[in-house]
Order: sequence, then C-alpha cells, then structure tokens
Amino acid sequence: MRAEARHAPPRWHWRGGWLDAARHCPSPNFGPRPHGAHIDLIVIHSISLPPGVYGGPQVEQLFTNQLDWQAHPYFEQIRGMEVSSHFFIRRDGELVQFVDADARAWHAGASCWRGRDNCNDDSIGIELEGLEGDSFEASQYLTLTRLCASLRARYPVAYVAGHEHIAPGRKQDPGPGFDWARLRQGLGWPPRCFPQDTDRVLTAND
Ligand SMILES: [Zn+2]
Repeated sequence: MRAEARHAPPRWHWRGGWLDAARHCPSPNFGPRPHGAHIDLIVIHSISLPPGVYGGPQVEQLFTNQLDWQAHPYFEQIRGMEVSSHFFIRRDGELVQFVDADARAWHAGASCWRGRDNCNDDSIGIELEGLEGDSFEASQYLTLTRLCASLRARYPVAYVAGHEHIAPGRKQDPGPGFDWARLRQGLGWPPRCFPQDTDRVLTAND
C-alpha cells in the first residue's frame, strides 16, 4: 500500500474512542453498538441550523438536546429530535466530537449499505457544516481527509458513503456540492471504498 502511504495525511491521536485533536462536546444521544460490530463504514452528512446559516451554536445545541425550538420557525419542524453524530466539521475546518467513536451515534436512521441495514450499528457519522447543493470549504476537506485517515488507523474502515447513498430517496446530504473526487484523491484509497457514482470531477458548471 505504498501509494496510500504517500497520500495519507498525518494522523491524529486517539484516547479510547475520542480524538485528541477534536473539541469535545459530549452528546447524551448515543448507545452501545451491537456486540461484535464491525465498524467499517464512514457516513458523510451535511447540516446547518437554520439551514444555510453558518457559524452559530445551533448544531451543537441540537446534538446536545439544548436547542431552543422556538428560536427559529424551522426548528419547529425538528422539534423533539434526539440525534447526534460522532463528528462535526465547521466551515473553518474546526473538528468537534460529540460521541465516543466506539459507541453508536444516532445519525443515519433507516439505512442500508454494503448489504447491511441499520448503518448506525457499525458506522462513524461525520457532519460537515453546509447545505445540500452548496459547496464546502478547502479547510473542511483538509480536516475530513485527516479525520478519515485517523479513523482508518483505529477501525477497520473499508467504505465511505454519503447519507444520500445509504438512505436514497429519503436523504440528499451531503448533496451535489460535495466533491467526492477531491476526498478520494486526498485519501488515495481504492475506488471500491467509495460509491460508484462518486468518481466524476466537479466542474464549474455543477
Ligand atoms: Zn445526514
């Protein structure tokens, strides 16, 4: 795997299932993984609250059950939701961790990938601060690439997919503005790790 070693960015250090490099913002929304779970999938999402507004505290509030549902009309639509992801990458590339990666976060919902359903059981969820259809920042790709490499150093990661791939028709994130070719190139992992439709390069017309 010399090609991979040449591409791979420096990895961060783990303390159990927590990454030293992340800002820790513990969420109560998690549970144990099934016994013997084979954690081989990374799921990429996008989120912003309110949608399209970046830089505020609302995503972290949602994942820690502290969001004021009355603060914005949109929040009424998600009132009472108890969700989380393991990681959140802000527009400036800052990495936030909500759930121990050894534990089961609540990010995927009804889902199926590589022949197995209930992807929360055996995946790691990464939220990018963004909006379906919007593009993402260079600093986010840098953090994401380094995070994926660090995850693969600790878990038997063999697949990366978007929420839109594991829950087609129900979810659209991270959406067409996410540059899969950029992530694939940055990681240098084999094509079989990624969804088949992610090998095209984004152009200015996309
Ligand atoms: Zn999602």
